[in-house]
Amino acid sequence: MCGVVGVFGHTEAANITYLALHALQHRGQESAGIVTSDGDHLHPVRSMGLVGEAFSKREIDELSGQMAIGHVRYSTAGESAMKNAQPFSVEYAHGAIAVAHNGNLVNANDLRRKLEMDGSIFQTTSDSEVIIHLIARARELEVEHRIISALKQVEGAYSLLFLSENKLIAVRDPMGFRPLCLGRLKDSFVFASESCAFDLIEAEFIRELEPGEMVAVDAKGLRTYRPFRQEPTRFCVFEHVYFARPDSHIDGRSVYRVREALGRALAQEHPVEADVVVPVPDSGTPAAIGFARASGIPYDMGLLRSHYVGRTFIEPQQSIRHFGVKLKLNAVKEVLAGKRVVVVDDSIVRGTTSRKIVKMLRNAGAKEVHLRISAPPTTHPCFYGIDTPTRSELIASSHTPEEIARYITCDSLGYLSLEGMMKAVRAANGGVVEAERSHCDACFTGKYPIEFRPGTISSLRRVVN
Ligand code: AMP
Repeated sequence: MCGVVGVFGHTEAANITYLALHALQHRGQESAGIVTSDGDHLHPVRSMGLVGEAFSKREIDELSGQMAIGHVRYSTAGESAMKNAQPFSVEYAHGAIAVAHNGNLVNANDLRRKLEMDGSIFQTTSDSEVIIHLIARARELEVEHRIISALKQVEGAYSLLFLSENKLIAVRDPMGFRPLCLGRLKDSFVFASESCAFDLIEAEFIRELEPGEMVAVDAKGLRTYRPFRQEPTRFCVFEHVYFARPDSHIDGRSVYRVREALGRALAQEHPVEADVVVPVPDSGTPAAIGFARASGIPYDMGLLRSHYVGRTFIEPQQSIRHFGVKLKLNAVKEVLAGKRVVVVDDSIVRGTTSRKIVKMLRNAGAKEVHLRISAPPTTHPCFYGIDTPTRSELIASSHTPEEIARYITCDSLGYLSLEGMMKAVRAANGGVVEAERSHCDACFTGKYPIEFRPGTISSLRRVVN
């Protein structure tokens, strides 16, 4: 769970990167960083926290140069600490290089052990540092070819941006797990995890990088490479379900349209007699709109979300029931009292939030609460860049929907089927023909597209609450 931004050839490269990172804040809230190049040297700034708080104006002003890459981080590999904040930047025998990574490498532990046995000293616990070591050891001369040589040794999910003194290089892994978009801002090229970042900086969306594609930009222009063996595409379906912003266009389709279609399919698969459809904001909103449209049941804002709470370190001394969820959400009694309520969310992870939401709705006077989830049960952890808890913490890995409904205390629970989800996702791509399995659905099926040795990843992963 991370977001990346790149700018090449703009007099305000640092400013533009900083602004675009705001639009990707949902992809990572732990740390933020920007590295610029003035053609001779790299200038980094990294900090813990949100983009708006992480840097001072002076720090951004001091980032000279017309090329930049930026990163927002939510840790999936390596602890949440300043040393793991990205972009990483290093100086090595052939110059300077910085990297910003969205994804997760599945063989990072093995590679790291080998490199350490060979004498490498690691400064971070992040899997992305392995790539830098491999680049530094590569025998090729040109930086593109050093990167290719390094990436041929890694396995897993990566959308990467590299910055050398005079080149910006973008790469997507051969299966294309994570998104990466290319755009134009006047005479400069820009890159971002999601197209919503281009809207903010008024850049024109050109296209997405293709799985396995590398794009290098320097003073001579833009070149594209296809250095890897072709693999079947496995774009992460959970980006559509939950992770990406609904105003983004990624994987060839509008995330908003996909979510609305998921809600429509959910209404068809799990109809219920009710008076009002209420989303769990913001994650459940487009699906709830789709559910309401398909079922004809009115949509209303029965839950309000505060957008100003991050983490809080002050807990009430007297117990306030369900305090954590109350900080974020509140029920609107006028919408709910005496009503049969359908509440729509995108996923159930541990089940704790949903249980509290159901209680909150009942306390506000809801007569019945029917929970509808716009994806199948989340049964398996992600090893490709989404932060999910271990298998034993995922409630659906060991409980049936009936048991989950009992725990959550809702009157009924309906999950969208795998077939229903994939049909809705496919239908939202404007009719382009796709392979039967063009997405990674491992969190719902346990079918991991890239194998890994059990135990090699869990030791690197840190579970974030
Ligand atoms: P839980 O109480 O653990 O079942 O959490 C369910 C909520 O977590 C839903 O509202 C989801 O939108 C949200 N969610 C799903 N996946 C993630 C994730 N990887 N990180 C943070 N929140 C998530």
